[in-house]
Amino acid sequence: MDDRNPVKRLGGIIARFIAFSAKRLPDDVVARLTELRAEEDSPMAKTIYDAMFTDLEMAASFSRPCCQDTGILQFFARAGTGFPFIGELEACIRDAAVAATRDAPLRPNAVEFFDEKNSGDNTGTRIPWLDWEIVSGSDLDLYLYMAGGGCSLPGFAKTLMPLEGYEEAVKAVFDQVASYGVNACPPLLVGIGLGGSVDTAAKLSKKALLRFIGTRNGNAKGAELEKRLEAALDSIGLGPGGFSGKRSVMAVHIEQAARHTATIAVGLSTGCWAHRRSLIRIDKNLDWRVLSHKTQMDQC
Ligand code: SF4
Repeated sequence: MDDRNPVKRLGGIIARFIAFSAKRLPDDVVARLTELRAEEDSPMAKTIYDAMFTDLEMAASFSRPCCQDTGILQFFARAGTGFPFIGELEACIRDAAVAATRDAPLRPNAVEFFDEKNSGDNTGTRIPWLDWEIVSGSDLDLYLYMAGGGCSLPGFAKTLMPLEGYEEAVKAVFDQVASYGVNACPPLLVGIGLGGSVDTAAKLSKKALLRFIGTRNGNAKGAELEKRLEAALDSIGLGPGGFSGKRSVMAVHIEQAARHTATIAVGLSTGCWAHRRSLIRIDKNLDWRVLSHKTQMDQC
């Protein structure tokens, strides 16, 4: 890496960030898994949680990804208008994906539609995915979500007639998680998007997965619905790995947008127990800090 070239430095930071994210779960996820593990008393549930924590210890000690499915790379940038590398960020992320695939290593998962060809380096048309939000300031807050196949399977979005009401939106989410959640390696993080059009709802459902566990929807009714859905989904008793237990979910997160009077759209995204969602803040001098983990990239 050429340290004098700031764009290459930025690419190097992001490549390390990808590899780091594949190997260490964020602190909020580990804390929630620790709580859920302590609640279980069945031998099967305890054994599965023990296996998960052994997996995490081995991933850290051997410096290897904590799940073989390192997912499709999805980035969500909240960039200050004064961040000097906005124009270079997309290319940096693409180069970083190639480097991290080689160095971490990551499993190559990006397969081109129509051509059915795996690029071998986790890049492809519009992959890594990059979602932008431009804000004031000069920092870049960059979320990475590694979207595994199993945890993406329950995802859906649909638009409902207004007379179907909010109840139908909640029922659609509940039925989908009850039917397909077991495929997504529970305990799940359930992300729900509510809005007026299907694309808004789908995007908000993924953004809901970026929110740290332990936080609640800013609207009191939204927060209450999160709690009620957690209780309802826990009553199914999916348990760790879907082998039954007291809980099904790590949390339910809802994000909403104002809707058109005539439509209610709902989107669902699910995260698995190995919820690899990381957040790094990079300033205009390329000093950085990983905000989702106490342990930093240069400490391991
Ligand atoms: S759902 Fe998650 S833990 Fe299960 S195989 Fe996929 S990425 Fe790995």
